Amino acid sequence: MSDKRTQYLLDASRMPRHWYNIAADLPRALPPVLHPGTLQPIGPADLAPLFPMALIEQEVSTEREIPIPEPVREVFKLWRPSPLFRAHRLEQALGTPARIYYKYEGVSPAGSHKPNTAVPQAWYNAQAGVKKLTTETGAGQWGSSLAFAGALFGIDVTVFQVRVSYDQKPYRRALMETYGARCIASPSMETQAGRAALALRPDHPGSLGLAISEAVEIAATHEDTKYALGSVLNHVLLHQTIIGQEAMLQLEMAGDDPDVIVGCTGGGSNFAGIAFPFIGQQLRGGKRRRIVAVEPAACPSLTRGRYAYDYGDSAKMTPLTKMHTLGSGFTPPSFHAGGLRYHGMAPLVSHLKELDLLEATAYHQVACFEAGVMFARAEGIVPAPEANHAVKGAIVEALRCKAEGRSEVILFNLCGHGHFDMSAYSAYFAGKLTDQSYDESELALALAGLPSVAA
Ligand SMILES: *Cc1c(COP(=O)(O)O)cnc(C)c1O
Repeated sequence: MSDKRTQYLLDASRMPRHWYNIAADLPRALPPVLHPGTLQPIGPADLAPLFPMALIEQEVSTEREIPIPEPVREVFKLWRPSPLFRAHRLEQALGTPARIYYKYEGVSPAGSHKPNTAVPQAWYNAQAGVKKLTTETGAGQWGSSLAFAGALFGIDVTVFQVRVSYDQKPYRRALMETYGARCIASPSMETQAGRAALALRPDHPGSLGLAISEAVEIAATHEDTKYALGSVLNHVLLHQTIIGQEAMLQLEMAGDDPDVIVGCTGGGSNFAGIAFPFIGQQLRGGKRRRIVAVEPAACPSLTRGRYAYDYGDSAKMTPLTKMHTLGSGFTPPSFHAGGLRYHGMAPLVSHLKELDLLEATAYHQVACFEAGVMFARAEGIVPAPEANHAVKGAIVEALRCKAEGRSEVILFNLCGHGHFDMSAYSAYFAGKLTDQSYDESELALALAGLPSVAA
């Protein structure tokens, strides 16, 4: 007989009422965002063509707590608070003395953490009278999340989906269309940025940077249309902090306190979501924990990129932010964790890395799938290919604990399920999944092309 619990479910009444803004606790402020034309710091008005003012205010806010609007919390009740699980069976399979917990964000309608920001973004846009939103999507997770949120608040959503995942993941497109969105493969003939890319390379596999250019171009040239981004920006990371705040309450229920927190990083939002509330505690004098970001070895912005000013898109239309970047001209190889194929990293995550408040590591995809399959067989949930990177990172930590005989507490973010990614699992089982390396000379070229901005 055992009375050990595996699931920690918060009552809806304990769902957080505020997002946590780490900007309030930073020992050094973020470097300014620069205008792409003048290279001078921008102000809120410069972002007004793309975003509603409420989101721009959040982008630059230094208030520690920002209230979650009640209608947004109402929608969140569809799947929040999300469960925290203790991975007893994974611990057993690994023979580790570590206690492993995971926060599961795959319970949202789109199957990942992305609706945590899609819903408030759509709501603030609707409040501002916006009728149309454009966006980009890599793996299709963000596109389907915004499509879902758009359907709730009567907003038309157009999604530019990176060509490789558009071809690899027809069911993600079907999901977006089910929610009423229009989905276009990027690069497309609908924008100057897309036409220019296709002229250079007719079989262009697309990239998040390029899809962003297309979506931003449509928003910038249409009065009635705004743009939404699913990661990277401060307000997006802010919205995801509900994950870590809930996890904190749930770990209290479990009577545990994490020593190591692990998340996968594409643009940095799910990682920030689970980690920032804990880093904030530390910045206010609390316990120091190890915070580990796991990225794909094929697109290693945090571990191999340069910390420099760069554009967020490949057509160089977005403002410049200081971040770890592989260069906005870099096209990552078309590996399966499409949500992690971005050339840059969230400025906030980059800044914390520079401040030594987090560590970064990179793994190849085959090892990550191996970890994901082990996890599925032990815990039952099939992780998204992106989430496999977090699983891999957590397993590495658990095995270190085993080798060192330490019973540390490991928390990781299982940011999504892989039900739309089973072709990637099929490829893995067929031995067809290979560890792709990016082209070093292309990386050197992309880094050489970074804008020169006086330090
Ligand atoms: C989009 C996505 C990611 C990558 O984006 P982040 O902003 O780094 O979180 C990771 N995992 C899943 C499941 C995603 O949908």
